[in-house]
Amino acid sequence: MQSELKPCAHCGGEAYIDDDTMGHSVVCCKNIECRAQGPFRPTDDEAIAAWNARASDAEITHLTEALRAAEERETALHSDAERYHWLRDHSCPPHNFYISVPDEFAGQRYAPDDVDAYIDAARQALAGAKP
Ligand SMILES: [Zn+2]
Repeated sequence: MQSELKPCAHCGGEAYIDDDTMGHSVVCCKNIECRAQGPFRPTDDEAIAAWNARASDAEITHLTEALRAAEERETALHSDAERYHWLRDHSCPPHNFYISVPDEFAGQRYAPDDVDAYIDAARQALAGAKP
């Protein structure tokens, strides 16, 4: 006995069951603009079970948190890349892309956040100085 088909997980549209020439069953979305399709399975019941499978709330929460963390990492990496490009494009000859500090600061360590803040301030000052 066939189970009831859930609506399409992508568009909410109505679904139908189909088969291929090899006799495998598959569930497809009727929305021609969506065209979502489940996996091919040996029987209608297995194809319907695969189509009806949905992520649990816990899985959705986990994936949402992972996506948010990845977006934060991407934003931080983008900022670092912009700093790198600024350094690369604004270094002066004959020391292109050579980062140094005056002798009186030899041996002094700078926190990465301080270096980032200095570069960001220099970029903003330079951008503000442009006509
Ligand atoms: Zn759909």
